[in-house]
Amino acid sequence: MKVRKPLVAGNWKMNGDIASNEQLFTALRAAPERVPAAQVEVVVCPPYPYLGQAAAWLGDTGVAWGAQDVSAHPNGAHTGEVSASMLADLGCRWVVIGHSERRQAGETDEQVAAKLARCAAHEIGVIACVGETLAEREAGATETVLARQLDAIASTLLAGGASAAPGRFVLAYEPVWAIGTGRTASPDTAQAAHRFLRERLAVRGYRESGYVRILYGGSVKANNAAALFAMPDVDGGLIGGASLVADEFLDICRAAALA
Ligand code: PEP
Repeated sequence: MKVRKPLVAGNWKMNGDIASNEQLFTALRAAPERVPAAQVEVVVCPPYPYLGQAAAWLGDTGVAWGAQDVSAHPNGAHTGEVSASMLADLGCRWVVIGHSERRQAGETDEQVAAKLARCAAHEIGVIACVGETLAEREAGATETVLARQLDAIASTLLAGGASAAPGRFVLAYEPVWAIGTGRTASPDTAQAAHRFLRERLAVRGYRESGYVRILYGGSVKANNAAALFAMPDVDGGLIGGASLVADEFLDICRAAALA
């Protein structure tokens, strides 16, 4: 049994439609029979237009739902963006920030930190992603990159920008070379990065670092989840492709519950 309650989040990315979502929601509604809520927290993050559908299907279940991104601004002339207050109005309790697919589209460390502050102001939990590219890993720069990305986030945490309890601040280590590639980090590689992140949070003065859940993300499947989740600093997963296949996703959640 893990010290920190594992969390598994499904990032649906830009996939789904009303009919296929319904099939996934139906399977998730049956989750308590397969995945004990006391042992794992489960969150799914569909695209914005389907958050209302998620609320309707999952509102009375133990499965939470969240958004894949949020604006760094409170309101105003930001066409196409969605603010944290709007998500809070909808009852949204989780947001993924700093995903590498957003960073590759130009999102900066400072913007990720601003998003964290916006979410904290509305008591929305965050799953903040960090991770190095293949070129950065091969250049031996993994820890430098992780430190830079984490420090921007930690500054906001320490400035009180994330007044939410540590349970509402979740980190996700997502090596870019492992996302959607089928190339999963080995459990030892993941553990080393997770330990580094936890220690860095502590060094930066974040006293609750021992309580922060650090998820691993990058080609997690039902057949590799248990080995990853068995590592001491891996507290669950952020799941992309496999979160769109109900059985696969529920098996991953179960692996986390049993870790
Ligand atoms: C992700 O989108 O965050 C992710 C980890 O994707 P995948 O599981 O498909 O690698």
